[in-house]
Amino acid sequence: MQVPANMRAMVLTAPGQPLALCTLPVPAPGHLQVLVKVIACGVCRTDLHIADGELPQPALPLVPGHEIVGEVVLAGAGVAHLRAGDQVGIPWLGYTCGQCRYCLAGKENLCDKSLFTGYTIDGGFAEYTVAWAAFCFRLPALYANAAGAPLLCAGLIGYRCYLKIDNNAQHIGLYGFGAAAHLLTQLAAWQQKDVYAFTNPGDSAIQDFACALGAVWAGDSTQPPPVRLDAAILFAPAGELVPQALAQLDKGGQLICGGIHMSDIPGFAYRLLWEERSIASVANLTRQDAEAYFTLAPKVPIVAAVKRFALHQANEALAALRSGALKGAAVLDLSLPVTDDHQPFT
Ligand SMILES: [Zn+2]
Ligand SMILES: [Zn+2]
Repeated sequence: MQVPANMRAMVLTAPGQPLALCTLPVPAPGHLQVLVKVIACGVCRTDLHIADGELPQPALPLVPGHEIVGEVVLAGAGVAHLRAGDQVGIPWLGYTCGQCRYCLAGKENLCDKSLFTGYTIDGGFAEYTVAWAAFCFRLPALYANAAGAPLLCAGLIGYRCYLKIDNNAQHIGLYGFGAAAHLLTQLAAWQQKDVYAFTNPGDSAIQDFACALGAVWAGDSTQPPPVRLDAAILFAPAGELVPQALAQLDKGGQLICGGIHMSDIPGFAYRLLWEERSIASVANLTRQDAEAYFTLAPKVPIVAAVKRFALHQANEALAALRSGALKGAAVLDLSLPVTDDHQPFT
């Protein structure tokens, strides 16, 4: 494939500013890297946290985006397992050192020297991107398209949260029913788990959506579910939900926080934690998580509900995510035409 000299990209130059449609040189793949033509890139809540300046030290100017579906167009020196034409997924975990004590212990998600796609290295809100080949993985044909993109972070992080839960947990609460929860509900329901979906108070449209995907109950986050929960996963970045969710856990219940950023957790009575309840967070992903997830996902099959935007509409996609009204996930679909009809960032 002929690689052009320049590409279009949506670029963050300063936190709090809208992304700008820019023309940039197409990056060249270095040693052990590949150049990938982006097919689609999901828009994740983490992109919103980066754009808003809630995560420290993004590599500005930055091309965000870490749910990349694309096709390899050029393999750099030393790349053996990928070649032009391969359809790959590029996730948040963009590089690890392989040598620190976390990497050596199989916890590369906690690597001291990790790089993150669309945060500390450029990501997929662009026509092309460069990635370390060892951190790209081949996608099943079912997911090599715009609808596959949300699985690369929302799907994977949800899955890692789910793996933290005791295998025997039956009643599982999901707080915040966005991209991650809508994908995880399908997997958990397929595995005969009972999913309880908690949404913004009064959001009956999202509650109906949760039930349609297999949740046995959906209600307001302020409401108690009909049973005590064995576990709950918090996807909403709202610290006040931590004591609320803890209060719904059965003895020995687990609360897993799946977000990378959350508002402060208010003080709460020790009795909410007593009786061996626990709180843990999940950080990033490992390549092993991705391998396991993409083996499982087509069997369910997990299908993302997506709202597609063209590349230049990245700000609108972020605004839609912020509004909380999306059923499922927002995705930049690079097959949609790019025009100059910018809408103001709201
Ligand atoms: Zn490391
Ligand atoms: Zn993400």
